[in-house]
Amino acid sequence: MVEQLVELNNGVEMPQIGFGVFQIIDEQKCESAVTQALQVGYRLIDTATAYQNEVAVGRAIKKSGIDRQALFITSKLWVADASYERAKAGIDASLNRLGLDYLDLYLLHQPYGDVIGAWRALEEAYQAGKIRAIGVSNFYADQLKNLELTTAIRPAINQIEINPWYQQTDAVQFLHSEGIQTEAWAPFAEGKQDIFTNQKLVAIGERYGKSVSQVILRWLLQRQIVVISKTSHRDRMETNHNSCDFELDDQDMQQITTLDQHYSQFFNHRDPVTIDQIFGTSIQKNRAANWKDSLPS
Ligand code: NAP
Repeated sequence: MVEQLVELNNGVEMPQIGFGVFQIIDEQKCESAVTQALQVGYRLIDTATAYQNEVAVGRAIKKSGIDRQALFITSKLWVADASYERAKAGIDASLNRLGLDYLDLYLLHQPYGDVIGAWRALEEAYQAGKIRAIGVSNFYADQLKNLELTTAIRPAINQIEINPWYQQTDAVQFLHSEGIQTEAWAPFAEGKQDIFTNQKLVAIGERYGKSVSQVILRWLLQRQIVVISKTSHRDRMETNHNSCDFELDDQDMQQITTLDQHYSQFFNHRDPVTIDQIFGTSIQKNRAANWKDSLPS
């Protein structure tokens, strides 16, 4: 397959189709999945501090023997490290766990905590050559605007949930107008609402001799979106990776827009309870520990 590349706002090129390793925590399974994904032809690998599998990803990269420059490796800073000092250490910790000299892309995983301080640490690492491009994930337009107005380097990417149930048309348009590349996570909504047997998607696929997963990935590629999907099965990796050799016509692109339900299949990042769940579990523990430390003995 000829690899499709997109150019980010700092001139760095990245593959438009990638492989993600969320929820492959077992070290051997993760190493095996990444090894197979690289054999199949994936060059963009997406991991995160929070996925607890950077070591396994790094091992698979090293064993693959593939030229480092041919790979595009992404990781992310977790909210527990969302401050200037902690982010500096967090970036180095990701590099150490992955066994890499540099990352191609590093993201603020969530729009919580001291994101301005954390972003400054990412900017410094970028300027020092430790990261080729820096970006964010799960940021809404207003949060992005605030970041842009208070820091020097504009994010290259915003990685957000996009799938046929939650198409995020306005967000994609806003990012495009800001010169920020959209990257889609959970393109299959992790299979929710029987996505792989949805009648409309199956019917579209039949017209091209393609699977539902290929139709979804192709729909995202045609919207100029970078997309990362996950599977633990090699045959599905091959199917998913092979989504570039056909083109959905306007009518089918339009048909897919009718599936939009306009809400997230996973999180409302504005819901205080969700924020407590994402942020609280790691930060509140630290805070509680610090509070105890500050008590007079
Ligand atoms: P996803 O890619 O939408 O869906 C993964 C699910 O689809 C798995 O259950 C997989 O099953 C199944 N699947 C994949 N290809 C298939 C095929 N061809 N036929 C049938 N089933 C198939 O979900 P995701 O893993 O949540 O999202 C992808 C990546 O995005 C993640 O791995 C991660 O890197 C990133 N992500 C980022 C964030 C963020 O906050 N930034 C959040 C979530 C995810 P099997 O494994 O059993 O094949």
